[in-house]
Amino acid sequence: MKTCQDIKPAASIDAIIHYAEAMLGVRFTKVRKNRYNAQCPFHADTENSFRVYVNKDDEVRFHCFGACKGDWDIYDLIMLRRKCRSGKAQQVWAEHLGMADFKFDAGRVSSIPEPDETPEPDVPVVFIEPLKLDQKNAASLDEAASFYNGLLVSHKNRFKHIWEYLASRGVGQDAISKFNIGYAPPYSDEQHRGRALVDSFLPRFEKKNETFSAVTDAGLARLLNDNSVKGYGYYCRQIDFSRKYPFSRNYCDALAGRIVFPICDSTSLTTGLAGRNPGDRGVRWLKQQSREVPLSDRARLFGLEKAAQYIRQYRTIILVEGVFDYFAFYNLLQDMGKPALVSTLGSYVTPEAAAIITSLDIEHFIVAYNWDELGRNGIERMAAKSNGWVYYLGGPSKDQSPYDLLKPVLDAINGFSRGASHDLCAMLPKTKIKTGTGGHNKVQPPSVAVACSGKTASD
Ligand SMILES: [Zn+2]
Repeated sequence: MKTCQDIKPAASIDAIIHYAEAMLGVRFTKVRKNRYNAQCPFHADTENSFRVYVNKDDEVRFHCFGACKGDWDIYDLIMLRRKCRSGKAQQVWAEHLGMADFKFDAGRVSSIPEPDETPEPDVPVVFIEPLKLDQKNAASLDEAASFYNGLLVSHKNRFKHIWEYLASRGVGQDAISKFNIGYAPPYSDEQHRGRALVDSFLPRFEKKNETFSAVTDAGLARLLNDNSVKGYGYYCRQIDFSRKYPFSRNYCDALAGRIVFPICDSTSLTTGLAGRNPGDRGVRWLKQQSREVPLSDRARLFGLEKAAQYIRQYRTIILVEGVFDYFAFYNLLQDMGKPALVSTLGSYVTPEAAAIITSLDIEHFIVAYNWDELGRNGIERMAAKSNGWVYYLGGPSKDQSPYDLLKPVLDAINGFSRGASHDLCAMLPKTKIKTGTGGHNKVQPPSVAVACSGKTASD
């Protein structure tokens, strides 16, 4: 009785090649004995990156030397194509060869996860940050933000649950349009299948491959057959062989299923996108992540372009943690005409963000979130550099309105100006933070102070 290992040797290479061609819609060219190549069916291939070879165990194997970098046998390919289990793939192949006395190999090691083993990874917040922020990538990010905003705005009924969720977090129609907030439909969306943006670029991809690199370089598309990412088993099942074009078949929107918030620099240039799942776990998850590894060096400051003018004018910045805290405070401060407010999208202030904030010549840092040690150190360092003051309000608790939290500083904010900024110091009780090195350092420690509202709501 034969096992699955017995029926894919070099002797069967012709049968394997023909089967793979028909199954994957590719055309192999023979390079030499036991060597074939073709355009890879799992990425947008312009070379012949998909190779067939025979390994030292006399097994016929497939390898992509391009974007996928994967290595597969015929069973793996059947699993990918039919989204089936390893056992089923063995059966399919044995039947194709007309073998009745075939023995399953339950212990076969597959490079494709079994279909029911990997759910969609639970990642509440992702950031799209191109490796290189040049004009081309910035333009792609900007176009994507407007595209997702257009989808959300023009399908109010279809995305009613997103509108309702946003409204419940203080984000209404005005904010959606002013901040160019959008929505990327999820993989489960019947019309888009997680490819709304990728598909919108299709007509241009067909003309010019460069346009495609504009989208992938900006980090906006996800290659589905990439086994180096968490959740590979989920993503590889989203490959859609019913789609004719390799782009549409093999790539999805990196932000599929997320509310999209553009991140801009102080000149309103889009430098990144934050994609948030509609749910309540965002900031907590970011905290967890930043404890393990600093997430990124890139600047992650939401609302900076709206606030920069006021921050400079009043030499004051109000820092909030999450994007929804931002809107709660923004609605309040906007009415006062003083939205000197920025969300750090987590408690970790990235080095690039710290450099930007420091360059704004700020004297008063008002922190309206529950900082952890990493976040606290980052803010104190910034204040020390600007010889400024830190006022710690803590984060809003569940039942507390932003107004209650900001109350201790609201009057002072009313008095903000270069001349009157010390009103703020007078308004708030302060506690010195020990920042010196035990009195031996002759350099005077910077004037960093903490003002406590007495409220330290827990996260
Ligand atoms: Zn490939």
